Amino acid sequence: MPTPTHDTSKPVLVTGATGFLAGWLVKRLLEEGFTVHAAVRDPANEAKIAHLKKLADELPGTIRFFEADLLNDGSYGDAMKDCSIVFHTASPFITSVEDPQRDLVDPAVNGTRNVLASANQTDSVERVVVTSSCAAMFGDVVDVTREPGGILTENVWNTTSSLGHQPYSYSKTQAERAAWEMANNQDRWKLVTINPAFILGPSISGTSTSESHNLMRQLGDGTMKSGVPPFQIGMVDVRDVAEAHMRAAFLEDAEGRYIVFGDSHSLLEVAQMLQSGIGGTWPFPSRSMPKWLVWLIGPMVDKQITRPMVAKNMGYPWHADNSRSKRELGIEYGPVSTAVTDMFQQMVDTGAVKTS
Ligand code: NAP
Repeated sequence: MPTPTHDTSKPVLVTGATGFLAGWLVKRLLEEGFTVHAAVRDPANEAKIAHLKKLADELPGTIRFFEADLLNDGSYGDAMKDCSIVFHTASPFITSVEDPQRDLVDPAVNGTRNVLASANQTDSVERVVVTSSCAAMFGDVVDVTREPGGILTENVWNTTSSLGHQPYSYSKTQAERAAWEMANNQDRWKLVTINPAFILGPSISGTSTSESHNLMRQLGDGTMKSGVPPFQIGMVDVRDVAEAHMRAAFLEDAEGRYIVFGDSHSLLEVAQMLQSGIGGTWPFPSRSMPKWLVWLIGPMVDKQITRPMVAKNMGYPWHADNSRSKRELGIEYGPVSTAVTDMFQQMVDTGAVKTS
C-alpha cells in the first residue's frame, strides 16, 4: 500500500468546514501541518467555529476562515486562492424539507457547480475530492437487492429518486453527476468522489444538526420505544470517512468513486449496541415493528414515512462492496458498534439527548 504524500506547501480548501464530517477532516489536515482554508457560511458565528480554532491552536497546521455560500456564484473564489486540493463536503443533509428543489437540490447541485467553476478558474487546484454518498448509487433499498449478488458497487447510479421520492438522494445523485460532467470537460484537476454510507460517530464540535445525530437522538429519547422500523442501513465511522478523504486527496493513484462503508445493521441491532454499550435506564427500543404495521400507521405519525417508502425500503438486506476503498485507499474500517456508542455517549455528555 503506497503512503500518501502530504505536500503542505500550498493551502487546501474544505467547504462546509462547520459540518460533522468536515470537523474530522479538518483535524486530520491540521495534524499533517496543512494550512486549511475553511469555507463557512458565517465566520462571525463563534459558536460554530470555536472547535476548529481550538484544533488549530493544538495541532501543527493553521486555519483561515472564509465566508462562502453554495447558493452565491463565485463565493468560493477567495477561499480557493492558491489551494492545491479542494475538499467539497458542504451539502444540506436534512430529510425534512418544505421545498426539496430549493432546500436540497439547488444547494447541492448549483453549489457543486459553483465550487467546481472556481476550481476551473484557480490554476493551483490539482485535485477535487467531492463528498458524494451511497445515496447517489441507490434510491431505495430494494434497488440494491436487484444488483448482481444483491451488492452495491461503484458502477451503479441511483435512477429511482426524484424531487417527490427520496429527494435528498436525488440531490446527491444530481450533484455527483454535475461534478463528473464538469471534471470530464477539463484536464487540469482530477476528481475523486467519496461515497459514504450512513455516517456515525462523535463530532468534534460536540454538537451537530446532521441527520445522523437525529436518528441517534430518536433511538435514545423514547421516540422509538414501542419498536423500530425493520430497516437495514449501511454504516461507517466518521473517522474512517475523514481518513478516506485524506487518502483520496493525497494518494497519487486514487481515482473515480469510492464506496466507504463499514458494516450493515438493522436499526434493532443499533439499539442493541446501545443497550449493551451504554445501558442504564435509557428507553432503547427492544423490538422491531412488522413491516405491514409501519406501512399502515407510519404515514399517520410521520409525513416522511410514505407507503412507497416503506414498501421499497423496509425488510430488505443492504450490502455494498467496500473492497476498492480497502485495496486502493488502504482503509481499515473500525467496528460500527464503537461509532454508535462513542456517538451516543457524547450526546449524553453534552445533553444533546434526553429521555422524554
Ligand atoms: P452536516 O453536519 O449537516 O454538514 C453539512 C455542511 O454543509 C455544514 O457545514 C453546512 O453549513 C453546509 N451547508 C449546508 N448548506 C449550505 C449552503 N447553502 N452554503 C454553504 N454551506 C452549506 O452534515 P454531514 O453529515 O457532515 O454531511 C457532510 C457531507 O457528507 C454532505 O455532503 C452529506 O451529503 C455527505 N454525507 C453524509 C452522510 C451522513 O450519514 N451524515 C452520509 C453520506 C454522505 P452550516 O454549518 O452553515 O449549516
